[in-house]
Amino acid sequence: MPDLIKNELDSMTYFTSPQLTAYPRVRHAFFTRTGGVSAGEFESLNFRFTGGDERERVLRNYDIAAHVLGFSEQDVVRTLQQHTDRIGVVTERRGQFSLASGEEGVDAVMTNVRGVVLTGFYADCQLLLFYDHKTGAIAAVHAGWRGVQKEIARKTIEKMGEVYGTRARDLTCAVGPSICRSCFETDDDVYDALCGVYGEKISDFIYREGEKWHIDLKNITYSSLISAGVMPYNIDISTICPCCGDRSLWWSHRRQGERRGVHAGMIVLV
Ligand SMILES: [Zn+2]
Repeated sequence: MPDLIKNELDSMTYFTSPQLTAYPRVRHAFFTRTGGVSAGEFESLNFRFTGGDERERVLRNYDIAAHVLGFSEQDVVRTLQQHTDRIGVVTERRGQFSLASGEEGVDAVMTNVRGVVLTGFYADCQLLLFYDHKTGAIAAVHAGWRGVQKEIARKTIEKMGEVYGTRARDLTCAVGPSICRSCFETDDDVYDALCGVYGEKISDFIYREGEKWHIDLKNITYSSLISAGVMPYNIDISTICPCCGDRSLWWSHRRQGERRGVHAGMIVLV
């Protein structure tokens, strides 16, 4: 599984998947905290309206990021993430900044409409970007450990199959920076919840240190994608962990709690 590639543009650093980049019909990026206009603990490319940042600055950050892909904040359709397995389908380009599915919220969003900038968020959790090069469908999927437990990645692939005729073997999948197994220390509740879904297989991805479990969510996700029919050579996964990685680039929920910004990843058909 190849790593993501670091890109520099003026004062901004962002990451891209080498395999997604090879397809001219799709553009995407996983953004860091650099290159935006927010200040203080939200410095600078913060996408989170709640938490204390100024709304106008956050909207400007959406615009700055969307412009990297050749679009504007008006083209953004975003998730409202609540650690669910709800998936939104976007069927038209409205040309206005919007939530994918109203106030109910979705953790995954998909479309086959050009010019819709699908946007999801992360600050330890995984954000997955999908592209089906046969049907031209894309998706953005948020998966923290609850999303992994609810198998939202597999469910999104199945829904892409129902809606667009997507076959898993035609999917390219990019997994953004997310918490590493060393930093993701948990109690029995997370271990039990994941065991309930993955059974004995989970022991390949978990180890015990003292009283705590350490869980390798990156490899659980990789294994889940393979089980869903995705080809190993079509998966790129970032080795970066926001929690123990470069603090000038990353916010981490585990390291900082709620006083922080949030990162975005975007994908759009052109
Ligand atoms: Zn780490």
